[in-house]
Amino acid sequence: MKRILVTGGAGFIGSHLCEKLLEAGNEVICVDNYFTGSKMNIIHLMNSPYFEVIRHDITMPLYVEADEIYNLACPASPVHYQYNAIKTIKTSVMGSINTLGIARRTRSKIMLASTSEVYGDPAINPQHEGYRGNVNPLGPRACYDEGKRCAETLFMNYHRQNGVRIKIARIFNTYGPRMSINDGRVISNFIVQALRGDDITIYGDGNQTRSFQYVDDLIDGLTRLMNTDDSFTGPVNIGNPSEVSVRELAERIVLMTGSRSKLVYYPLPEDDPRQRRPDISLAERELGWRPVTGLEEGLQKTIDYFRKVLN
Ligand code: NAD
Ligand code: UDP
Repeated sequence: MKRILVTGGAGFIGSHLCEKLLEAGNEVICVDNYFTGSKMNIIHLMNSPYFEVIRHDITMPLYVEADEIYNLACPASPVHYQYNAIKTIKTSVMGSINTLGIARRTRSKIMLASTSEVYGDPAINPQHEGYRGNVNPLGPRACYDEGKRCAETLFMNYHRQNGVRIKIARIFNTYGPRMSINDGRVISNFIVQALRGDDITIYGDGNQTRSFQYVDDLIDGLTRLMNTDDSFTGPVNIGNPSEVSVRELAERIVLMTGSRSKLVYYPLPEDDPRQRRPDISLAERELGWRPVTGLEEGLQKTIDYFRKVLN
């Protein structure tokens, strides 16, 4: 039995990861400050004697022992990460230093939940791991993008200087049950708006694209990455290469929910990337992984979840 630390474990992705790690027979320590996460996401795990929750802000040092660490703590929705931009940078940078410190002291393996945002508004499509990105270091998204880029740099340097066993996952837009109603990201916004009969808020002309992966596929990719040979550090893209425009997504959700909601258009936020699609050939080769859940199937599961939550 391994003891696994998951920071940000009460969040959307973290709660699914904690669940899967427990199911696989591990002991899990979940660390979270509940900024965007919730006890409701992990309440079903609380009865397990192998699950432990610590309310802690990862910008402060933490002393625990673990065999593996997944560092997920960081708000991920633009609305939340821009709410306190300085805190977002501290969470990525100091949170990484603190968790890397645990990894160095306890000789544990550690993974960073990095992001496709390191590619910024990409000049190439799809994006492969060798692409260095097009990030505006001064714009409103920079606290998140540059915070994660610096976290990647820290991971690489702890690896080079101290021999820490690291893994860097570049996660592309992920959705599924347990996203919060107020998360602010596009899929949860559109589904909640459609189910309530509210206007569907498209930012810009809706021609910008994203590639959405269902959360179960991501968790499979992350655990496979953690189990790769120590010589493989990544970064590796984990995402679904099927690309859709935001307008197509809105139309599809309206159709699937049978909603009467209208599509309404608002200004595009500053620095909003025009396109995003992962090149996953590295993940296919090194992890033997590719996503198996199509958008239709994943959206249906997510719609079913939000129907229950809203009732
Ligand atoms: P989320 O907001 O649901 O989860 C983040 C969790 O981290 C929350 O539980 C929050 O309370 C916790 N947290 C935030 N700041 C903290 C701090 N200072 N100390 C302790 N806990 C803190 O977001 P998510 O979608 O589950 O994302 C999880 C991770 O995956 C993040 O690091 C995010 O950057 C990364 N990621 C997510 C996506 C995506 O599409 N969901 C894409 C790329 C990367
Ligand atoms: N978006 C939108 N309406 C919303 C929320 C988001 O049109 O209510 C757009 C947003 O401008 C972006 C895309 O959807 O172009 C994805 O946004 P999200 O915040 O989900 O993720 P990110 O921009 O970080 O990829």
